Amino acid sequence: MSLDDLYREVILNHYRHPKNRRSMEGANLSIEVANPLCGDEIRLDLMVEDGRVSDVAWSGRGCSISQASASMMSEAVKGQTVEEAVQLVKAFRGMMRGVEPEIEMGDVEALRGVQKFPVRIKCAVLAWDALDQVLAEPAAHQAEGRGS
Ligand code: ZN
Repeated sequence: MSLDDLYREVILNHYRHPKNRRSMEGANLSIEVANPLCGDEIRLDLMVEDGRVSDVAWSGRGCSISQASASMMSEAVKGQTVEEAVQLVKAFRGMMRGVEPEIEMGDVEALRGVQKFPVRIKCAVLAWDALDQVLAEPAAHQAEGRGS
């Protein structure tokens, strides 16, 4: 099995059996993002407590790469501190530009194959952009209905 085949297998596996794809009661941060070029949509819900991402949930629709990437991101970021999560986003963005990540990326590494298809990079980055935006400006992304 070539590395490309292995990567494809990992991506398809996340697409068919997505991790953390559900709605979350009591999320304190949420965001909806879209990639109109491909029609991908992702809603991300986070529970951030004491500077740590204690729970992650997402939902969405779109191509296999966008949805698999959201699944991988959710798995990678769950339990991380906000600081670690920001580093992860940075490492992922670097990886998509061909920079070797300095931290362990796990399944996420399968997305490096997408680099060869520049038009699909936006699909792969969508969920990570959502995470980045929420963590950079939590005050602007408070989940609606909190405390009600
Ligand atoms: Zn897409």
